[in-house]
Amino acid sequence: MKQKEKDVLTEMSKLQTFFMVLCYVELIAGIVFIVKTTIAGMEYSKGRDSNYGLVGFIYSTLLVAFIFSVLFGVYKLLGYVKSLQTQEMLLTDDKTTRTEKEFKNNSWYCSCGRRNPNYVGTCACGKLKP
Ligand SMILES: [Zn+2]
Repeated sequence: MKQKEKDVLTEMSKLQTFFMVLCYVELIAGIVFIVKTTIAGMEYSKGRDSNYGLVGFIYSTLLVAFIFSVLFGVYKLLGYVKSLQTQEMLLTDDKTTRTEKEFKNNSWYCSCGRRNPNYVGTCACGKLKP
C-alpha cells in the first residue's frame, strides 16, 4: 500500500474517532438536556391541567435520538467507506505484485543493470539482448 493511501485511511480513522466521540458527547449532553427539559416541563405544569413534563420528555428525547442517529450514521458510513477503500487498495496491491512477477518472468537482464521485457531486443544503453 502506498504511503498516500495509508495517510487517507489514517485520516478517515481519525474522522471516525471524532464522530464516535461526538456520539458520546451528544448522548451525555442529551441526557442532561432531557432531564432539564422534563423538569422545566414539570415546573411549568404546576397548577395547570396538562402534563408538560411528559411533553418535554418526549420532544427532547426525540430530538436527542435524531441528532444521535445522524452522528452515528456518519460514523457507520465512514467505517463502510474505509473498509471499501481498504479492499480496493489491497486489490490494487495484489495486481501490481502480479504484474511485477509477470514482468520478472518475461524479461532479460542487461549487463548495464537494466531489466528489459523479452519483446525488447536492444537495451536503452545500446547493447543487444543476449
Ligand atoms: Zn543495458
